[in-house]
Amino acid sequence: MICIPITTKNTEDAISEMSSASKYADIIELRIDHIPELQDAERCIEESLKSKTKPVIVTNRPEREGGKFNGSEQDRLHLLQKAIDLGADYVDVEYDSIKQIVRRRNCKVIISCHNFRETPQNLSKIYNDICQHKPDIVKIVTYANDITDNIRIFELLNTANIPIISFCMGELGHISRILTRKFGGLLTFASLERGKKSAPGQLTVDELSRIYHFKNINKETKLYGIIGNPVSHSMSPVIHNASFTEKGLNNVYVPLKVTNIGTFIKECREIDFQGFSVTIPHKESVLPFLDDIEHTAEKIGAINTIVRQDGKLVGYNTDCMAAVMALDNSLRETGSTLNDKKVSIIGAGGAARAIAFGLKEKGCDITIYNRTIERAEKLSNDVKCRFEKFEEINKLDSGILINTTPIGMFPEVDRTPVPENVLKEGMIVFDAVYNPIETKLLRDARKRGGHTVDGLTMFINQAAEQLRLWTNIDPPIELMSKIVREIL
Ligand code: NAP
Repeated sequence: MICIPITTKNTEDAISEMSSASKYADIIELRIDHIPELQDAERCIEESLKSKTKPVIVTNRPEREGGKFNGSEQDRLHLLQKAIDLGADYVDVEYDSIKQIVRRRNCKVIISCHNFRETPQNLSKIYNDICQHKPDIVKIVTYANDITDNIRIFELLNTANIPIISFCMGELGHISRILTRKFGGLLTFASLERGKKSAPGQLTVDELSRIYHFKNINKETKLYGIIGNPVSHSMSPVIHNASFTEKGLNNVYVPLKVTNIGTFIKECREIDFQGFSVTIPHKESVLPFLDDIEHTAEKIGAINTIVRQDGKLVGYNTDCMAAVMALDNSLRETGSTLNDKKVSIIGAGGAARAIAFGLKEKGCDITIYNRTIERAEKLSNDVKCRFEKFEEINKLDSGILINTTPIGMFPEVDRTPVPENVLKEGMIVFDAVYNPIETKLLRDARKRGGHTVDGLTMFINQAAEQLRLWTNIDPPIELMSKIVREIL
């Protein structure tokens, strides 16, 4: 279930917002503590309960538990008692106040405990202490300081035998809000729109529904995610979740902001993750923690995909084949193949490594141009190809040119890694940058009569291949491409 909190400052706004929220919510939470005037708070309880069309939780959170109520404890509990007496469906009462509340049969009591600093180690003790007071529902909310804090919340949800609401607050707690149904949580909180959240890290109801298809998540849902830092900007959750839905798969894909890769890989084995995308800065550092690495990925020394196979975590590199496929298709259109082609690669980072190894296997004659010459030398030694200083790019004589530096990427869209006169008629120019889709380099190449391959094609190919590795199905490439184009 989705619960939308109402955090307005007066009765009229509360009633109007409840009416809007009722279109999307299964339950409404009336946060009385946000109403500064005591009399108005009383009136709000009365009027809201009269006009409600969805079940209502009345909450009057004190400042000590992260709420806004700063009056006397007597007044605070008086308002909660009033909500019970007037027929609220639920009241949320803090663990340390429950003894002072007179319960009625028609109002269920949520006994709650909030920790805005951390996710403590003694979650099961907190749960057992709350259970002593015979709650209808237990609520334990903590703060995630590390992505693995969510895993302890999932374990708590799995073992609880009383209906429970539990999740982590903060950006690192997003996955506990999204995945709560998978582990048996009763509901998640979502704000009606941006700027109206009642706690840190709360997603909007639109994000939960449109990106994560929250209501389809259940115990059987298989988990996937993107491991990186940062990950909040990533387009992958939108693309992969839409693809899963299109293919009728009960899967969900979530962002995983990981700082300590070793700890995360160890702990994620305890829950049902079936696969991951891996992005900066973990593409290389993750390798020692995997059970196996596919041959090409091992040679490249970096992965961007993990697949759980027979309980083992196996690393793959789909960037490599994605780039080769993009170039191969473009050459085929000109009636040619990659074999024996002279290729100049600008850059010697992760993308360059994957592309260089892939093209070497296709029989290309490669030269690496890089700003830091030692890095160019290292990559050329590993791939067995030539290398040059970045400035020497002016003299290149290859038929294929590939940019793997971020030069030209948003917001510096007027920059290009090579002067226009280097670009020749008939040359194939591939830019790994995909934001913008048409970079200055590609515009210049087209002007000079070249054939162009954009980074978006590689990006879609690598995501499609990930989907194939995880699920063994044909990826919906057109849908993936449409979504990314819309986002960009
Ligand atoms: P990376 O590992 O950080 O490597 C960046 C490379 O660019 C390094 O060789 C670096 O040279 C060079 N570079 C950076 N700024 C430069 C500048 N101002 N002048 C000259 N050289 C510069 O990054 P990466 O993972 O390879 O990614 C590189 C680009 O490829 C990014 O724009 C990324 O978005 C894109 N990419 C696209 C896809 C796709 O699917 N289309 C996939 C992966 C990456 P030094 O060695 O001197 O630092």
